[in-house]
Amino acid sequence: MNALRILIPSVVVGGILAALSSCNTTDSSVTSKSGLWERELGAVASTPANPNESHKELNIKVDLIQKGKYGRRIDRKLDPKFITIHSTQNPTGDAFAHAKALKRGALRGGVVGYLCWHFTVQDDTVIQHIPTDERGEHADFDGPGNRYSIGIEMCEHQGNDQLATMERTAKLAASLMYHHQIPIENIRAHYHWPREGYSTPNKNCPHFLLENGQPGGTWRWFVGRINQHHQRLVAFDEYLRQQKELEEQQDKQNRIVQIWHRITDFIGLG
Ligand SMILES: [Zn+2]
Repeated sequence: MNALRILIPSVVVGGILAALSSCNTTDSSVTSKSGLWERELGAVASTPANPNESHKELNIKVDLIQKGKYGRRIDRKLDPKFITIHSTQNPTGDAFAHAKALKRGALRGGVVGYLCWHFTVQDDTVIQHIPTDERGEHADFDGPGNRYSIGIEMCEHQGNDQLATMERTAKLAASLMYHHQIPIENIRAHYHWPREGYSTPNKNCPHFLLENGQPGGTWRWFVGRINQHHQRLVAFDEYLRQQKELEEQQDKQNRIVQIWHRITDFIGLG
């Protein structure tokens, strides 16, 4: 009876303390926008991923602007050193609509008079508009953003799954990093390329990955996600190297066994 009297209050007090501590806990990794996104997407797997298969899974449709026309009217080579991430800020146009607009020269601007970029991503598809060895017009006129980077636009049309779009973009960026040997520090928001002559040179783009118009925790989370997808591709090369090494060791052992059998056969021990 006495033991029970002691037990009941301690259980009650313990429960109250636990409830209070959980109320007071503000774990920023869960309450922040990126924390919620990370929870919804789940962690990136740490297993190696085949770069060619991963690239196929991106579902890239190549629908290029006609060579010599509009954004491709001048042949300008690109040796990509950076990847620039944008978002369309267009609530009505999906990736297909942007492809059509680019193909009929509907988007004016830039140094050549027509905007163009390399890829547009929506939740289930990627569309490629210009080859990755050709310069686009998406970032900063004649600045380094256009001269050295592959441009990716993320769709924002109604009904598009934003999280799936971000994840597909992260995987696309990782694949481009892998195939063009671009380091993670060269993943840039459009924000990072100032536009000469503008009163706000650093554009709030991609706006939903920035905080108060500037890269912060959400942007760092996104780059972290790209990095993890890239690590999986790099790990696949290491996996192949180890497999090859194992096979070579096995071959060597087999050859030794064969020689040993020949020797024992020769001296009549076999
Ligand atoms: Zn932009």
